[in-house]
Amino acid sequence: MSRIRILDPRVADRIAAGEVVERPASVVKELIENSLDAGARAITVEIEASGSGLIRVSDDGMGMDPDDAVLALRRFATSKIGAAEDLERIATYGFRGEALPSIAAVSRLTLTTRPPGAEAGTRVESEGGASLRASAAGTAPGTVVAVESLFLNTPARRKFLKSPAREFALIVETVQRLALAAPAVSFRVRHAQRETAAYAAADPQERLAQILGRDLAGAMAPLRGEARGVTVTGWTVRPERARPGRPAEYLYVNRRPIQSRLLSRAVHQGYAELLPVGLAPVVVLMLDVDAAEVDVNIHPRKQEVRFSDEHRIFGVVQRAVREALLAPGSIRHVPELPTAALPDALVAAVAEQTPPYAAAGSVAPSLAPAAAQGTGRLPTLRPLGQILRTYLLAEAPDGLVLIDQHAAHERILYERLLGDAARGGTSQTLTAPVPVDLSAEERGVLDEFLPASERLGFALQPFGGSTLLVRAIPAALRAQPPDRLLHRALAALLEPRNGNDALARLAIATACHTAVRAGDALTFEEMTALLSDLAATEDPFTCFHGRPTMVWVSRPTLERWFLRR
Ligand code: ADP
Ligand code: MG
Repeated sequence: MSRIRILDPRVADRIAAGEVVERPASVVKELIENSLDAGARAITVEIEASGSGLIRVSDDGMGMDPDDAVLALRRFATSKIGAAEDLERIATYGFRGEALPSIAAVSRLTLTTRPPGAEAGTRVESEGGASLRASAAGTAPGTVVAVESLFLNTPARRKFLKSPAREFALIVETVQRLALAAPAVSFRVRHAQRETAAYAAADPQERLAQILGRDLAGAMAPLRGEARGVTVTGWTVRPERARPGRPAEYLYVNRRPIQSRLLSRAVHQGYAELLPVGLAPVVVLMLDVDAAEVDVNIHPRKQEVRFSDEHRIFGVVQRAVREALLAPGSIRHVPELPTAALPDALVAAVAEQTPPYAAAGSVAPSLAPAAAQGTGRLPTLRPLGQILRTYLLAEAPDGLVLIDQHAAHERILYERLLGDAARGGTSQTLTAPVPVDLSAEERGVLDEFLPASERLGFALQPFGGSTLLVRAIPAALRAQPPDRLLHRALAALLEPRNGNDALARLAIATACHTAVRAGDALTFEEMTALLSDLAATEDPFTCFHGRPTMVWVSRPTLERWFLRR
């Protein structure tokens, strides 16, 4: 006798339910997606007991006639695709025909529906997926799906639920994620008879404010990018408003909310060096990809997708984020001083009687003459002086700017080093080779970085034992005792890697130890050179450690301080 048999459909539904219906929020997600697919303009979500008591989703969409209403609860019953080829280009949220039967299998479900033109509606009731009862019913046009006693027959699932507060938070998050991608649809959420969220139909920018709050939404830079077959739109938070903790990512492909390590990584790379350590971005990323270029059928809850060309997607996202953060001529993403921070600094400077520019005998490595071409990212800055031998003071068209001389110089050197390397490297040959003794550990690190060091313009030659001859150093680095430079750079490279490639890491280590330091007095000419060099960088606003190179006080802030308005 055969041991293998085809499972009873009810058992199959229960198994499918295990995948599709993880928790109350999964039900909310599937029901809202159905409402959106049905062309709803208004969706109401009513919840009792964090979804364990009741989940009711009502819409004003196209409804179903009596036959369809019964079919909808059958497995693999869908109106959204017909042939296998349709799976290649899915334009709706649903396509698996699994959600309603799966939910019905683990709850008491009532579906009430009426197409807008129809005389009467239909009600279909099911309990644990068994015995559908259909009857005529009076109801408004649209569809109402009520799910009661979720997981009534799967106590194991119930046990895995988190606290009621957490489950309800997940429901709200689910609504928000879908609402962000459908701004023209209005959403309401009621919990225990109280309205907890209401998003009126709006334009995308306004919907962003409804969901993230006006304050945070105002701190987001709009992003836009395009490559063959891919368009990226959305918003990403300006670095100074990034938050500690995990990134808040709202990722969409063709309006479908997804999770994607690829996209997360691309966003992260877009922020490279712009984000202070320990802070995470907030980003809303909408990808529009030709439906044939993306496979949405790889995850039972449709939460993940696969792209046919990951490389292109990664590139376009990373660039879009970067460009949004570095919009030309804008200083708005530079952190503005919290009130009261500046007066302290000024008071200290005055008390110390620091001259506005340095006296003779400057210890700073000489800075290049002001020949650099600006990239237009930085507004014109007029240097005013140096305070505390650490910060430069400058006038911007709309306020006062304080620049951290070390961070700014780091940024300049770093970009120069990498720029020179990209152009094939330029070195300055030392008049006489300088021997440097290295420890075994330093030697080990150096071996790893030898190819990168050549590309940057170092000429390092093993000279027997632990000694190395330095014949040339990168042209971007001015007069530097090469042994100290090398020891310091190698020490920095011994620290745990931070994800950059060898060339970037060596450039960072080198730039960090060559840049002018806090405490170095600068002449007025050096300040002028530093500012014009900074204006020539691609990212003038942060050093590569993610620290800001500058903060500013806007004219309105100054006016507030002095009670001018
Ligand atoms: P899928 O969405 O994958 O097609 P579902 O089980 O979620 O599968 O739904 C089955 C079918 O029921 C849908 O294809 C659709 O025709 C119909 N349906 C479900 N919800 C609604 C709704 N709110 N309004 C109109 N039709 C609906
Ligand atoms: Mg569906």
